Amino acid sequence: MSNNYYQREYETMSREELKALQSERLVRQVRHVWEHVPYYRGLMEQKGVTPEDIRGIDDLHKLPFISKEDLRLQYPYGLLGTDLKNCVRIHSTSGTTGRRVVAFYTQEDIDIWDDCCARAIVAAGGTDEDVCQIAYGFGLFTGGAGLNGGSHKVGCLTLPMSSGNTDRQIQFMMDLKATILCCTPSYAAFIGESLKEKGYKPEDNSLKAGIFGAEPWTEEMRRGIEEALGIKAYDIYGLTETSGPGVAFECEEQTGMHINEDHFAAEIIDPDTGEVLPLGATGELVLTSLDKEAFPLLRYRTRDITMLSVEPCPCGRTFVKMKKPMGRSDDMLIIRGVNVFPSQIETVLLNEGYAPNYQIIVGRENNTDTLDVNVEMSEGTFSDVVKDMERETARLAQAIKTMLGITPRVHLVAPRSIARSEGKAVRVIDNRKLHD
Ligand code: ADP
Ligand code: ZN
Repeated sequence: MSNNYYQREYETMSREELKALQSERLVRQVRHVWEHVPYYRGLMEQKGVTPEDIRGIDDLHKLPFISKEDLRLQYPYGLLGTDLKNCVRIHSTSGTTGRRVVAFYTQEDIDIWDDCCARAIVAAGGTDEDVCQIAYGFGLFTGGAGLNGGSHKVGCLTLPMSSGNTDRQIQFMMDLKATILCCTPSYAAFIGESLKEKGYKPEDNSLKAGIFGAEPWTEEMRRGIEEALGIKAYDIYGLTETSGPGVAFECEEQTGMHINEDHFAAEIIDPDTGEVLPLGATGELVLTSLDKEAFPLLRYRTRDITMLSVEPCPCGRTFVKMKKPMGRSDDMLIIRGVNVFPSQIETVLLNEGYAPNYQIIVGRENNTDTLDVNVEMSEGTFSDVVKDMERETARLAQAIKTMLGITPRVHLVAPRSIARSEGKAVRVIDNRKLHD
């Protein structure tokens, strides 16, 4: 049992109490949407559902799904749940896949979002004595604003660095003795690499924890970051459509992220049929906001592939846990008929002793898919490996083949030749899309 709760009464409430709370909130949220968002009302009417049919959380499955496509079609104001004059801010997706989506917030929405992020910071050991360095981007992207708000709520001394300018990050980290670092995992890895280059050892900094999310990352990458920075690295999950980071966060057990179920109801569905799957099954995460004013979402299809577990957590929190998402269904590559997640290739490379600096290039030659993987050598491996490049590339190709069942062409490239990420890393180039 830990004492690291920000809102103990919610984070540890019994499942029955939680169900009652979710039910009450869902009924209210559905009425709110029905009354204020004609587009949603239309979707519900099409499905033959009215607010009277939704008596509690067990009726969730009766509601229609909503997808990113709906959000794009309704850009910018079509899903607003309140008068624009009640809104105080917008954020927007980073546009990793396709057109941007704009989300709106009332002050109350921001307050709840900040609470969710505060829970994550406290779960990572944060208190008002901490110095919290926020190296997620500030601006339209939700990462900076979300963790900044959470850090203020906890009472940490907040360093609103935004991403980039790594020399300055390091200087402030050292001079102001930052104890918690918040950024994308790929940027955390880059900061670790830069610290080492400047001659710092992991124990030279004052960091104790990191809160990393906004992109998929593997357990191997977590271990690498933990070693490089001398910290414990916690995962955090969220998306712009549901406010931002803080939908789910890791506790000290690090066996999945607790979903803030007092604010979001979670389901797992079969992405092909839309059928709701039993607990423990792997599928697409569907989220329903329970108390949003400006941008309510009923049964939003996140396209993130994960699974849920209600196993009691030793930390004392009763919220379900979601497994680290492997990537979005639309990140999944189909290469020669085989489903490939970039994270699988990352797992192999890191296990083979490489840093997370790689690039996956998919193409098509003579009507056959090709898979090329550029892998960066470190200064250390460079001289050893250069003697025996062929054997090393064959070894890596074999390791990837064992994982995926298809053989890639591996290319070892010079240290520092692959661009580093200060935000979300772009690791895949799919040239087939250009020709389709
Ligand atoms: P975009 O959809 O343009 O990338 P967002 O910044 O809203 O915009 O990204 C949200 C997405 O980022 C999620 O749907 C998920 O795919 C990914 N993501 C966020 N946090 C994590 C995490 N901890 N692990 C894996 N993926 C994550
Ligand atoms: Zn826990």
